[in-house]
Amino acid sequence: MNRMKLPEIKRRISRPVKVGRLTMGGRSPVSVQSMANTQTSDVKATLAQINALAEAGADLIRLAVPTRDDTAALKQIVRRSPVPLIADVHFHFDRALEAIDAGAAKIRLNPGNIRDRVQVRRVIAAARSAGVAIRVGVNEGSIVERSDSAIRRRDMSRRLDELMVEKLDEYLKIFRQENFHDLVLSAKSRDAFTTIAAYRALAKRYDYPLHLGVTHAGTPQTGTVRSAAALGTLLAEGIGDTIRISFAGDPLPEVRAGLELLWSLRLRRRRGLELIACPTCGRLQMDVAPIIEAVQRAFAGMTRHVTVAVMGCVVNGPGEAADADIAVCAGKGKAILYRRGKKLRVVPQDKIVQAVLAEAKRLG
Ligand code: SF4
Repeated sequence: MNRMKLPEIKRRISRPVKVGRLTMGGRSPVSVQSMANTQTSDVKATLAQINALAEAGADLIRLAVPTRDDTAALKQIVRRSPVPLIADVHFHFDRALEAIDAGAAKIRLNPGNIRDRVQVRRVIAAARSAGVAIRVGVNEGSIVERSDSAIRRRDMSRRLDELMVEKLDEYLKIFRQENFHDLVLSAKSRDAFTTIAAYRALAKRYDYPLHLGVTHAGTPQTGTVRSAAALGTLLAEGIGDTIRISFAGDPLPEVRAGLELLWSLRLRRRRGLELIACPTCGRLQMDVAPIIEAVQRAFAGMTRHVTVAVMGCVVNGPGEAADADIAVCAGKGKAILYRRGKKLRVVPQDKIVQAVLAEAKRLG
């Protein structure tokens, strides 16, 4: 696209941490991660999902390793994965040791679950000798007290973000004593305001890379909006080195949403189709929804960034699409085709998608 110089976000420069062949933090681009929802012990299914997520643009993928079968499978999966893998460890510190041995590039520890200092020290020692990074990740569930009969928040008089940061402070003392700094931090809440406040505090206190996320964000609809509210605010302030947008269900849309967020904030170079779609109104001359869907399908495999505008009329359409690489502005049963603001020709309705794709290829 031929655009004038645009403003950029001034990022917080964190300490660079190696995660396999990637570097998190420093001046590295903000990475996008996701989490597989297969049983890790099912090597075939997990690798199929890893490949699909990597193809969609995930830079890193996290796997749950609750059992010894999972960490055993991880060894085979790591060898065949196109991206570095992170092992998510809950409760059993020996799973962390096994995951490090299996070749995980990073492990995630939850201070709410693995509390025994001796165990944490053993994990740190293993991570250090294998060159593995550790994410210390609290979420609002980490600050509750559990007993057989009740689960309750530790201190109702305090703000959740403060409690999460305190929990991290306390846990990080062990890492400081061990002089281990290949750390990434996270403090996730399901509430956007709490998430923003927690990460702002972490960004002030520590120079470690920050993994941004909203936890339990719900469906793709609610999750996209909640994540955009919290992560978008933080990223626009320069805070955040890696992101995970999380939804219930299929993880593929998480990656697409994460990339779209980074592209929208110009934190990553856009690739593939950037669609400008008419919001539709009473001036609409053609049903543009099926055309938009067909354009998306036709451009699915394209990696080069190309902007396509599909507009419903010739009243406002041409002006609003002037910035696009290719634009079509609909009339009755036909559309005018434009390339970079220049009118090319009139195309019949059933040839619109074909013409747009041909012009995109002609752009080189
Ligand atoms: S492009 Fe035309 S039809 Fe679409 S919203 Fe604008 S004025 Fe309405």
